[in-house]
Amino acid sequence: MILRLFFCFLLILEAHAGDFRVGAARVDITPKDGTPLGGFYKFRGSEGVIDPLYAKTIVFEKDGAHAAIVVLDLSGTVRPLVAAARKAIQEQCGIGGDHVMISGTHTHSGPQQPRGSLMDDITKVKSPPGVAYISALPGLIAQSVKEAKEKLAPAKAAVAMGKAEGISFNRRVLREGVKEAIWQPQKINPATDKPAGPVDPEVGVVVFESDGKPTASLLNFAMHPTSVGAGTKISADYPGVFTKLVSERHGPGMVSVFANGCCGNINHGDYINGKRRSTLELGTALADATDAAWASMKTVSTFAPRVRSEQVTLQRRSFTPEQIAKAKDMAANMFTKNFGTVPMAETVCILETVEKQSVPLLAEVQVIALSDELAIVALPGEIFVELGLALKKASPFKHTIIAELANGSVGYVPNREAYPQGNYEIVSARGEVGSGERLVEVALRLLGEVKAAR
Ligand SMILES: [Zn+2]
Repeated sequence: MILRLFFCFLLILEAHAGDFRVGAARVDITPKDGTPLGGFYKFRGSEGVIDPLYAKTIVFEKDGAHAAIVVLDLSGTVRPLVAAARKAIQEQCGIGGDHVMISGTHTHSGPQQPRGSLMDDITKVKSPPGVAYISALPGLIAQSVKEAKEKLAPAKAAVAMGKAEGISFNRRVLREGVKEAIWQPQKINPATDKPAGPVDPEVGVVVFESDGKPTASLLNFAMHPTSVGAGTKISADYPGVFTKLVSERHGPGMVSVFANGCCGNINHGDYINGKRRSTLELGTALADATDAAWASMKTVSTFAPRVRSEQVTLQRRSFTPEQIAKAKDMAANMFTKNFGTVPMAETVCILETVEKQSVPLLAEVQVIALSDELAIVALPGEIFVELGLALKKASPFKHTIIAELANGSVGYVPNREAYPQGNYEIVSARGEVGSGERLVEVALRLLGEVKAAR
């Protein structure tokens, strides 16, 4: 009997041994009209749809080991949503929660999620349409993973790194003689002004092919999706155009998934020429860069997904009694007066920090390696580009794809040098100076572990 069971086990092993399998699916998560939108410090109820929002999933499997990457066309992800979705995925698909990455593209034209701060009142996310939307999400995410898992088929992975130059800008600018960085200028004077930091022009392209046909692609670029603006129509912003074009051009039926890179301080406002490119122009530029990279696509040899996930406790920032009193005063008048984005962001951050002083600021760092040459890193916040570039450079993998706003969010995560330069991202950062470098350090250690694992 035992011997027979052993042979059955061997047969099962044999059925999958050697096969790296990939499945992909997408599920529509477009909300109904009237759903509170995120992305800005005001209430906007959705009215109409420019293009639909999706939960897009790629599932990887080899020798019974699974990993899943889910990207939502949403402004980000919050931990309760991630926890609920992972639980549903574990129950319905048998994939362990810590082997699932869930990130948001950061579209500013999609529904808001509750953050447990003043933002919930500002955006009215806890109104019945907001609650209805949020409660349905974990089920829809699990459904996309289930459908992707059902499509698992032996696959090859190939990688190419493209470049899209001149469409993304470091939205913080330093002016001669001025200590504070200027935030999102329309047009700069090159004689006195210079970008406070770099951009990351790299376009990551990972393609999975089954039976000679591309079935899934994972695309990566670092830039805020804010090109649709603060209207009330639903849109996936430029990632929607980008992914649609890549699928149309390279494999109708292919599920193209866009993970946003470290774009905390990167936007599309072209302050060199004073231009604002449209959603269509941005998505098309990225699809063109992908086309150009396609020719240099190289197959990588894959292994069973190696996953690590670690909870890091970051130190919350601290504020003076004067700052707290000022924030309380502003909060009391927030709904009758318009204070502007930066003071609003600062107030929300200070009051949340005071309220949650005894609650640990948890940040999950997750890595998923699929090959000796390819790993995906998930970071929970709006990470400054300098940190992303440093992480890619120091990574032991030839190709490292970083997904920000993944598995929750601790808000903006600036690099150390940016803190003294102040302005929007700094006044709204939850973590103390050094938080970003700490996340990079943990990610590099985890990358080292999965690289060495056998
Ligand atoms: Zn942002």
